[in-house]
Amino acid sequence: MNDCDAAFDVLVIGAGIGGLTAAALLQERGFRVLCLEQSRHPGGSCSSFRREGYTFDAGASVFYGFAENGRSGTLNLHTRVFRRLGVEVPSVPDLVQIHYHLPGGLDIRAHFHRDRFLGELTEAFPHEAEGIGRFYRELESVYDILSALPAGSLEDPRHLLSVGASHPLKTGALALKTLRSMGRAARRHVSDPELLRFFDIEAYAWALQDATATPLVNAGICLADRHHGGINYPLGGSGSIPEALVEGFGKFGGRIRYGARVERILTEGGRAVGVRLADGSELCARAVISNATIWDTFNSLLDDSRLRVEESRFIEAPSWFQLYLGVEGRCVPEGTEVHHVQVDGWEGYQRPGGTLYCSVPSLLDPSLAPEGHHVVHAFVTDRAERWKGLERGSEGYRRRKQEMASELVARLERLMPGIGGAVKVKVSASPLTHERWLARRHGSYGPLLKPGRNILLKPQNRTPVKSLFAVGDSTFPGQGVIAVTYSGVSCASLVASRLGRPLRPLE
Ligand SMILES: Cc1cc2nc3c(=O)[nH]c(=O)nc-3n(C[C@H](O)[C@H](O)[C@H](O)COP(=O)(O)OP(=O)(O)OC[C@H]3O[C@@H](n4cnc5c(N)ncnc54)[C@H](O)[C@@H]3O)c2cc1C
Repeated sequence: MNDCDAAFDVLVIGAGIGGLTAAALLQERGFRVLCLEQSRHPGGSCSSFRREGYTFDAGASVFYGFAENGRSGTLNLHTRVFRRLGVEVPSVPDLVQIHYHLPGGLDIRAHFHRDRFLGELTEAFPHEAEGIGRFYRELESVYDILSALPAGSLEDPRHLLSVGASHPLKTGALALKTLRSMGRAARRHVSDPELLRFFDIEAYAWALQDATATPLVNAGICLADRHHGGINYPLGGSGSIPEALVEGFGKFGGRIRYGARVERILTEGGRAVGVRLADGSELCARAVISNATIWDTFNSLLDDSRLRVEESRFIEAPSWFQLYLGVEGRCVPEGTEVHHVQVDGWEGYQRPGGTLYCSVPSLLDPSLAPEGHHVVHAFVTDRAERWKGLERGSEGYRRRKQEMASELVARLERLMPGIGGAVKVKVSASPLTHERWLARRHGSYGPLLKPGRNILLKPQNRTPVKSLFAVGDSTFPGQGVIAVTYSGVSCASLVASRLGRPLRPLE
């Protein structure tokens, strides 16, 4: 190995939100950290890009974790991490998490104000009023437990002992809840099939699985915290979050190398000792953290076939076809909400293209678009295999992208009549774009647990290779910016403990 004189304490592969959070917290604690990012930008799926005066969110637009409401624990993690790093991300409240447009004219908005949300839902299903109340109260009870527990690593015995000792009842209750699914809980309270469909889409909207396949604990965070910490939008776009993490990391002396693709994790005697980059250079460190997906880490970056992740272990979530539009403001009706989920028929909502997602974040931050204009981000699930044989840049590839874009614009007419004639800028991204941009196998949203499996079976931060740790949406608790922030915090806590200088709890 060369470059060992410049040894680091920790090398982080990838500057997604998971990797950046871990890197910045470890650097702040006094470790020497180098982050290696294959692209030219930080943030991965949570980043922004600019085209002709419009700023687009590449992926995420709905953000938890910004509240300052005095609650302790796993929630409001952006606020706590930014405070620890001494950086700020101004944000604005986003008062409707999602406006659902569903078959049979079912039209529900998930308001920040819980009573308004429950009121709308009860109005649509008056005969289930009691069950609706009981179900969402059950989610609240999960939230109450989680928000009281401090964030840390479930693999760190010291953390577990201290949480168990200070909150014995809550820890026990939480352990029981991890055995349950959102769908099973819902069925104990309500029976109307259409309402159960609504709960399915409440789960699918962020977990890409129906309610039965979604762990109750995940649901308890997402569907309750929106009424407490709420949803906020970072001014300047989603890229403001990674930019702040990069700033905080840099303030304490951390370094990021862009255009640095890690090709191999180097091991000696079963222990990770460094990485080899695509240019052939090698770097070593006491610990390596991978922000790549579990498949990319174990089936590509490591050389040991015994560590391969079997195909049958997880469900591979689909990838995305995404459309980014700069549009004239006239096509966005007065009173339009920012985030939408549209399902035209229940039969195919989980199939590629079945559910349409759309965000118009310039309604919250007008600086994202020229005056009198908006940015519209519309996307549907898609699979890389459906693009097989269509080489990037080929005529066939271009045609397929155009067809998909036109289809999405036509579907958007239901939300924004006249949008087809109001488009000024159009950018589209296929699963192949997603795969290349983020170095993610098949451009997948990540691994999903098989229905009925305990959420604690998600990979944690420790791996079978000594000194190699994992972070990001392949690890507990899963997909979503606040979830990967949690994984970054827990990974940093574990690595810091292992390297002999534990993190101080986030306040
Ligand atoms: C279309 C879409 C919409 C979404 N909407 C929301 C939303 O509204 N709210 C929400 O909370 N979440 C949303 N998400 C999910 C959320 O964005 C992700 O779960 C989260 O950002 C993933 O973060 P991560 O750090 O795990 O991985 P990534 O964002 O994938 O980051 C990993 C980084 O590692 C780099 N990398 C990988 N391999 C290597 C290598 N070998 N060498 C060097 N660098 C490497 C990649 O380039 C990338 O920058 C959305 C995602 C998508 C795609």
